[in-house]
Amino acid sequence: MTSQPRIAIVGAGIGGLTLAGLMEKRAFNVTVYEQAPAFERVGTGIQMGPNAVRVLRHLGIEAEVRDCAAIPRHWRNRDGTTGELLNELQLGAAAEHHFGAPYLLLHRGDLHDALRRAVPVDRIRTGRTLISTQRLGDRVRLIFADGVVEEADVLVAADGLRSRVRAQLFAELPPVYTGRVAFRSVFPAERLGGLELDDNTKWWGEDRHIVIYYLNARRDEIYFTTSVPDPQWTDESWSALGDPDEVRAALDGFHPHVSQVLAACPEVHKWAIADRVPLPRWSEGRVILLGDACHPMTPYMAQGAAQAMEDAMVLARCFEAFGLDDLPHVATAYQRTREARASEIQALSHRNQWMRSATDADWLYGYDSSSAPLI
Ligand SMILES: Cc1cc2nc3c(=O)[nH]c(=O)nc-3n(C[C@H](O)[C@H](O)[C@H](O)COP(=O)(O)OP(=O)(O)OC[C@H]3O[C@@H](n4cnc5c(N)ncnc54)[C@H](O)[C@@H]3O)c2cc1C
Repeated sequence: MTSQPRIAIVGAGIGGLTLAGLMEKRAFNVTVYEQAPAFERVGTGIQMGPNAVRVLRHLGIEAEVRDCAAIPRHWRNRDGTTGELLNELQLGAAAEHHFGAPYLLLHRGDLHDALRRAVPVDRIRTGRTLISTQRLGDRVRLIFADGVVEEADVLVAADGLRSRVRAQLFAELPPVYTGRVAFRSVFPAERLGGLELDDNTKWWGEDRHIVIYYLNARRDEIYFTTSVPDPQWTDESWSALGDPDEVRAALDGFHPHVSQVLAACPEVHKWAIADRVPLPRWSEGRVILLGDACHPMTPYMAQGAAQAMEDAMVLARCFEAFGLDDLPHVATAYQRTREARASEIQALSHRNQWMRSATDADWLYGYDSSSAPLI
């Protein structure tokens, strides 16, 4: 192994860790740089569609992720006020058989822990905030906030919605705030006082919604996330605390199941929902963008992380197929293979109609990024 990484990944989030794990399996020399000094268990849930679970399978962590997840029997879409069933997607064993992988609901912290375990500890450097990059012939230089400078043959920017690398390469245009916020909360189900909920339900209002699900097979932890209008709010952080009364007021008049969940919730966090217009180019020189750094999307299809994972799978295959010495081919095949699908999902997610009525889900969940032809 050389002393310098051949592939540097910035961001140990979902996409960065997935790529690191897949590259590790292909015996590439990878180092991941993460700005956070340590990994915290952020209180939020995450849905992993079968297209994402297939990637977990290739990382060798499907079983452990499944062990800490709930496998919902269905995804129900209900009228927010009356509770009328608008549409239902059968999940559980039938969906696993149909799509070739299960649909999982779990704590984001459990997913992140499992992804981290797929990467050797000495490949992840925490407390490293990238502040700029420089092109140096056939190398790329990474400059960190603490003064450390590293070099690599390739830099993969998996540094999320507010990607600094993207800003540097493609001009600093801020993410587009949708004028809506996601309140979210994780809390013990015992606070519901015996109320039994559906496995996974999206309650649709006229201009707002709430998604509620159990986070594990024990059904002892519950999660909700909303989208409600709020033209003022722009602070975009996982950790910004909100006021539970604010979300209760925003969803006043919703079905009693929703009101009971909101009444039981001890605290909420608030997240500004933003996305971006698609990028014409996903790479520049020796730098390649991945996940939210490249195509951030609203959370309405629960596909942002899944698309970051599909990116990682396709990019790992491109590195394997063309090698580090043919970077133009790697970058071109990666973008061509991924762009149409990621952009379509980005646009569909923005419209927020997924599953509200009968929806063909096969193209989304049946997709296998490990075998889709490289274009
Ligand atoms: C409310 C909500 C609910 C969601 N629910 C789902 C869901 O159910 N299913 C789903 O698939 N997706 C969901 N998503 C989307 C998903 O969270 C993101 O799409 C996904 O995390 C993107 O992965 P990523 O690796 O690109 O970025 P991230 O996971 O955000 O990781 C980026 C990493 O880069 C690090 N970083 C940033 N800047 C620097 C720097 N300068 N130097 C070093 N490190 C840096 C960050 O600290 C972070 O660790 C949801 C999103 C929201 C807002």
